[in-house]
Amino acid sequence: MKSRVLVLGGGITGLGTAWKLAENSVLVEVIELKKEIGGLAGTIKEGPYRLDYGPHFILSERPELLQKILSLFSEDLPVFKRSAQLFFHGKFYNYPLTARNVLMQMPLQDAFFCGSSYFLRLIWDTLKKPFVKKHEPNFEEWAKSSFGNYLFRLFFKPYTEQFWQIPVNELSPDSMPTNTRLSFFKTLKLLFVKDIVRSKMSLVERETTLLLHYPKQGIGKMASHIADRITEDMGKIQTGCRIKEIRQEPDGTFSVTADCGGKKKIFKGDHVVSTLPLTELIPMMNPAPPEEVRKSVQHLSYLSLIVVYLVIPKREILESSYVYHLATPYNRIGDMNKFCPDLCPEDENMLALEFTCHKGDSLWRKNKDELFDMSVSYLEKDGILKRNEVKDIFILKVPYGYPVYTYDYKKHLDTVRTFVRQTSNLEIVGRTGNYQYMDMDQCLHYGFLMAEEVLSKIKNS
Ligand SMILES: Cc1cc2nc3c(=O)[nH]c(=O)nc-3n(C[C@H](O)[C@H](O)[C@H](O)COP(=O)(O)OP(=O)(O)OC[C@H]3O[C@@H](n4cnc5c(N)ncnc54)[C@H](O)[C@@H]3O)c2cc1C
Repeated sequence: MKSRVLVLGGGITGLGTAWKLAENSVLVEVIELKKEIGGLAGTIKEGPYRLDYGPHFILSERPELLQKILSLFSEDLPVFKRSAQLFFHGKFYNYPLTARNVLMQMPLQDAFFCGSSYFLRLIWDTLKKPFVKKHEPNFEEWAKSSFGNYLFRLFFKPYTEQFWQIPVNELSPDSMPTNTRLSFFKTLKLLFVKDIVRSKMSLVERETTLLLHYPKQGIGKMASHIADRITEDMGKIQTGCRIKEIRQEPDGTFSVTADCGGKKKIFKGDHVVSTLPLTELIPMMNPAPPEEVRKSVQHLSYLSLIVVYLVIPKREILESSYVYHLATPYNRIGDMNKFCPDLCPEDENMLALEFTCHKGDSLWRKNKDELFDMSVSYLEKDGILKRNEVKDIFILKVPYGYPVYTYDYKKHLDTVRTFVRQTSNLEIVGRTGNYQYMDMDQCLHYGFLMAEEVLSKIKNS
């Protein structure tokens, strides 16, 4: 009999895994909570407006993968280069903040203090090295020794705490969403050496260096094209089904119970690939995982995201595609026309205000008007818009936006991953599923690799 694979979650990772499996004639079924597929990379339609969960563009340093993604679309996708700025103390700085732009753009006095505090910190760290026991630094320790105390206090502490809403000494340096975090010293070198080694690009560098593509009907189009490929190859996709229980039967097969619009449905499979949040997966498992695993997963959590869209009846609003803000209720504003001018009618534009919070907290409970009221005085003060210019407001909420990397997350994550690895024919993958920052192309890459792993297990079974 042919093996059946259940893919839990219809975001880009789940769809990528199912795509590859269906291409290889495996019986695969995707089960997704929401009505729309795509997860974080979905698009919500509101009349003539296409709303993404924050601007989402396609990029990859893997040419074959990029080609595979672009070939999903029948038309050529518009190409653009992202420009980002930080609005800080009434002035715009190029973002990401590096030694180069700090020294070149900051007032002389700040640049002097940043540079000298960095070198003082370097001397201090070198002198105390023989006397201090080596340990994993927390975010605060890492940022101070990478950038110096002055820049840490001026920027890294307030911005990081505004974004994560967690004190910096409780966070891991991994909270800085980059693959190789550029230290003050490394970026000083870039003052003279402009060529960045591509294989070591950070997430922000990927965005500022590579060509970016944006689908005209919103990023959700990518997910819907992948879904078409899955169903053409006889794969199935069930939407509107909240998975409640994942039961491993004594013979090793799985029964996944879901609530599909009030009706209980049971899906049967020989293999399960989960892209669900780990904090949902572990408590759903039957038999229950060992106590150590259930306790560890309680130390993991996800930061939630709220995107408020403001419709403005004029095309030009910001100078760059993104502006990062400090000491405001929102962290970042995206000027949607700069990403893709087709997401709203021709004579309009949308600003996407991104807020982060923890699910259930006071910000999470606010509605679109309350969030707009909280923000409008800042937008007016910074000369971005006037209250009466806003024609319409929309809101999107995502409970599982970013895995939270607290100081001790690694050991708890290891415990959970080890348990999953030891559970036969259960796999986890993806940004949400494997608790790992990733862009969409990386989700697809790992989704394909996961499909190959499952294929080889099926072949050897
Ligand atoms: C603000 C923001 C901007 C970004 N911009 C970009 C960008 O420009 N370019 C880029 O390449 N990447 C970008 N990313 C990253 C990209 O969105 C993610 O890497 C990718 O979408 C993650 O896909 P995933 O399938 O791993 O996870 P998810 O999209 O989280 O998929 C998990 C799925 O599981 C479903 N699910 C959860 N619980 C249940 C349940 N109980 N039952 C059934 N289903 C369930 C969810 O509904 C979801 O569909 C951005 C991310 C954010 C937050």
